[in-house]
Amino acid sequence: MYNAKAYSAASATSPLASTKINRRDPTEHDVQIEILFCGICHSDLHAVRNEWSNIMPTVYPIVPGHEIVGRVTKVGSAVTKFKSGDLAAVGCLVDSDGTCPHCKDGLEQLCPNQILTFNSPDKHLGGVTYGGYSESVVVTERFVLRVPSNLNLAGAAPLLCAGITTYSPMRRWGVTRGKKVGVVGLGGLGHMGVKFAHAFGAHVVVFTTSLNKKEDALRVGADEVVVSRNTDEMQKHAGSFDFILDAVSANHDINAYLNLLGRDGNLTLVGAPEKPFAVSAFSLLFGRRSVSGSIIGGIPETQEMLDFCGAHNITADVEVIPIQKVNEAYERLLKSDVKYRFSIDMASLKSAAGSKS
Ligand SMILES: [Zn+2]
Ligand SMILES: [Zn+2]
Repeated sequence: MYNAKAYSAASATSPLASTKINRRDPTEHDVQIEILFCGICHSDLHAVRNEWSNIMPTVYPIVPGHEIVGRVTKVGSAVTKFKSGDLAAVGCLVDSDGTCPHCKDGLEQLCPNQILTFNSPDKHLGGVTYGGYSESVVVTERFVLRVPSNLNLAGAAPLLCAGITTYSPMRRWGVTRGKKVGVVGLGGLGHMGVKFAHAFGAHVVVFTTSLNKKEDALRVGADEVVVSRNTDEMQKHAGSFDFILDAVSANHDINAYLNLLGRDGNLTLVGAPEKPFAVSAFSLLFGRRSVSGSIIGGIPETQEMLDFCGAHNITADVEVIPIQKVNEAYERLLKSDVKYRFSIDMASLKSAAGSKS
């Protein structure tokens, strides 16, 4: 066991502050990673403030962060895929049973015994797992990913959650050249969805509530931008989409989007609105349309996504911040005041010893 610098929150109402945590010494299957960048995901904020208390109550202190990119500093004797000095990444998962049908299919994100990167039982040290707002992390090789060396590392970090969350459903629903794809909401998730759909060769339409996002949407790869409040504009697209990615976390009416789907069209939710919403049966009956949900992706697909990003030079649009600005960043996140993801430069943690948050 060794000490690592980190940022943690002591309660649902405490700010994140500098601390020290225990990390295990790498076992034979482990990879030790010096963390270079960690993205800030909205789930970090939900967990820190215990806003998902009835699904996954937060154990304090919490060290959030599951968009981790870094450099390997040590490997166990049985590790074969990594060596010291390699770039490496860790996403939302750090372990699973490896034996259930989902794990056997490489769908570890659906494993009933998955271990999340933070706030999950830590079978090595007891207590809960600590995430990426830290100078280092130790993870079993099976959950460590390779990072293409051409990618900007600050922008690559969000690929580990926002990237795979949008890549996976597009692959599952066959987004490819010639398809018409809608993306609802241009934020951390949505802007990645647009980049992937564009890279897959689809015709991409972004739905937004504010026209001032138009230029940005076009810049990240949209072919068209539709203001969702404009019913005439919406009606022009009725029955024409193959796939719509709904990345909105606020409560909203999805029927307006279902009606834009063509035959066998699918709308996949990747946001998590708090309240259940109404779905008109007629929106689904006509056209055999469907609504699905999707959550991150398995380890093989996450690697595939990173390799795809390497080949197409795709990263998230990030604002790099020092860890000392993390609490301010959370407040800005609540106002969607970021284009489109914060990425914490972990070098700042080294200079943060003993300083206040
Ligand atoms: Zn996340
Ligand atoms: Zn499993």
